[in-house]
Amino acid sequence: MKIYVSGLYCGGNPQPGVGIVRSLRQGYPFARLIGVEYSSRVSGIHWDDLDDLLIQRPWDELNLDSYADTVRGILDDGGLWISGSDLEAMWLASILPDGHPNLLAPSAGALKRIAKPAVEALAALPIKIPTFVSTELPDWELHAFCREHDWRLWLKGPYYDAARTPSWDSFVAARNALTKVWSTERLFLQAHVSGYEESVMLAAYEGELLGCVSMRKRDITPEGKTWAGDIADVDPAFEATLRTIVKELNWTGGGELEMVRDAAGELWLLEMNPRFPAWVHGATIGGYNLPAQLVQAASRIDARKCKAQASEFTRVVLEVPVREDYPLPALPEPFAGAVGHSMKHPSGLTSLAERMHKAEMELIEIADPKPVETARTAPVPESFLADIEGYDLAGMQTPQFLYLDSTAEGLFKRASQRARRLSSNAVEVVSGYSIKTNPDERLIRLALDNGFFAEAISLLEVHKALETGFRPDQVILNGPGKWWPEGMMPKERMHAVFCDSVADLNRCVEAIHNGEMAAKHVGIRLRTPNVVSRFGIPMDSPDTFASLVESVGRLPTDTAFGVHFHMASSNIGVAQWWHLFESMMKWCRSIEKLTGRTIEILDMGGGWFPDDWHSSEDGKFAHAVETVKAMLPGVRQIVSEPGKAMAQPSMALAMRILEIQEHEDEYVEAVVDASIAELPMFAFQPHRILRQCSETGELQPLGRGKADLMGRLCMEHDIVATKVGLPDDTKAGDLLIFCDAGGYDRSMSYVFGRG
Ligand SMILES: *Cc1c(COP(=O)(O)O)cnc(C)c1O
Repeated sequence: MKIYVSGLYCGGNPQPGVGIVRSLRQGYPFARLIGVEYSSRVSGIHWDDLDDLLIQRPWDELNLDSYADTVRGILDDGGLWISGSDLEAMWLASILPDGHPNLLAPSAGALKRIAKPAVEALAALPIKIPTFVSTELPDWELHAFCREHDWRLWLKGPYYDAARTPSWDSFVAARNALTKVWSTERLFLQAHVSGYEESVMLAAYEGELLGCVSMRKRDITPEGKTWAGDIADVDPAFEATLRTIVKELNWTGGGELEMVRDAAGELWLLEMNPRFPAWVHGATIGGYNLPAQLVQAASRIDARKCKAQASEFTRVVLEVPVREDYPLPALPEPFAGAVGHSMKHPSGLTSLAERMHKAEMELIEIADPKPVETARTAPVPESFLADIEGYDLAGMQTPQFLYLDSTAEGLFKRASQRARRLSSNAVEVVSGYSIKTNPDERLIRLALDNGFFAEAISLLEVHKALETGFRPDQVILNGPGKWWPEGMMPKERMHAVFCDSVADLNRCVEAIHNGEMAAKHVGIRLRTPNVVSRFGIPMDSPDTFASLVESVGRLPTDTAFGVHFHMASSNIGVAQWWHLFESMMKWCRSIEKLTGRTIEILDMGGGWFPDDWHSSEDGKFAHAVETVKAMLPGVRQIVSEPGKAMAQPSMALAMRILEIQEHEDEYVEAVVDASIAELPMFAFQPHRILRQCSETGELQPLGRGKADLMGRLCMEHDIVATKVGLPDDTKAGDLLIFCDAGGYDRSMSYVFGRG
């Protein structure tokens, strides 16, 4: 009996080959076990149970046709083959689409039906698929998906590799890296599910389920891979369904369902692997020798009975002698650092992916996510186009910010209408425009005209509001630097002042007593619990809490008391923000109880991405108002402080292309006359981009493509957008317009490289 086993890699993210070999040796002490590898760097080739080796050139150098003949010959001669690598299994399925009695790996048809991320074949099992989207969606929509899922996400490649992407720039970097490594744009972004990981391993031959076993990870490596686990029977109902599925798929070979069990006990599928898992021998220790069962079914030679040694297993690191005929190769190149483990794998798996793509092998599609219907671009609001068309673009100096008049007006009007809809006699809902987000006078005036308050974080901002026409009693003063610059504090009564610390509160109380400051409401900013923040008064320290209670006690009784919190939902995610809101309500009640003061004003801050603020129905906000009424019946006014929700869509940045550099494989670098000095938010959010057609003057929205837009600065990181689809006729001198640049892009832009 000759059994070929591949996938002998034994690094931090090991393949199952060595585990399969150990289990086979236990079931068949006299079988001839042959290790298959594509690099002599793979340490598993030195494992003592292997009788022989079949070492091939790495995948990028291998003659695939003649190797296919070799493999067919081995199988025809009676050799059994167990693949320990997903990509090799795919390649084997491509050369033997209908399988082979001695090939112990699934057929092409079966592989297609377990394609990530939807894994359609397992639909009958009680396992959910975490929400996912294809990264072929426009960046604008991917950013929205990230916000919706609290930036707890995995960017996954079609075969291996997953990167956590807690921020926009990390997403962009990981996408670029994975696209390059796996030669495909077709990645997907999937919501993270918190919970404990567990797996079901199975073995089947020609559609008959030979055995299955359940494993819970009890300890993991930094990469999240199994280090220890416990072994148990699979739930009988689950097993029965799995048996039917295996029959339908006519599955042959090993397999693994990787899952997460969440706090509610619900199972979520991460993926199904078309091979045994690396912990396969852990199950053999637990009494389930599935590789031996597989060989028994194929060979009809009985395996030795497997006895359970323990129901739990753990790993150790072992040193083994290096085979004399395969001495260690020359020192490897230092690992250059990259996303995922695949780059570390020495056998050139990624090259196989590339070659399969280049050869347009049909199979390679199987693991790709569902394609987006058509290559779309994010919709650009009509008002943007109308406002931009109002400019004389032809003679315009660039780079240049364009104020979008009717767009800005519409934003403020809609916000004030919503505030009115949500208001009642009992509780008024109002907005305060955050001046720092964009202190453009036109926006401050729109705020005034639409019944907003002016929200200032410095006395210079207060004065700007007053100069624009706000009365002092329409001003809300906030932030840690509210006394700066010295001597500018207005003497008139302001609407509200929120204190950032106990020291700030003490200073304000004293100033009020001395007649240096007056406000209808004086409140405190609370530091968000569980979300790191440098602002506000922390509530997790009893000492600070005690001094807070004492200071609030000295607040004049003719001044109303209030609470403020601010945490950007654009950063922490929308779901998490609402969670935070709920917990803040509870803190507010405790503060009322302990200070004996009623909260009359509740200021919920800003930090909303425009689309989340404007396109969201009234529903959630209306519900929030009801929650406030129920939890804090003393509240008379609820304030929110939108900054970028108002300002960001209100301006665009016009720029011109200076030069087009064409490279291999249609890759283009286009140098533009703008830079990250005008778009400092490039790392935090995508921008919808328009190009003015130089023939027709028409504004065309740009989708994803192969061009990187390089800023004019002589700085390595001055890349204002990556993977943009520039139409073929684009040339130097063409005008590009970055929308969504009216928030911090505008206010934090700086003068640089202008002599
Ligand atoms: C900056 C700021 C805002 C506005 O934040 P955006 O992210 O622009 O919406 C609101 N309130 C306070 C206290 C701020 O500091």
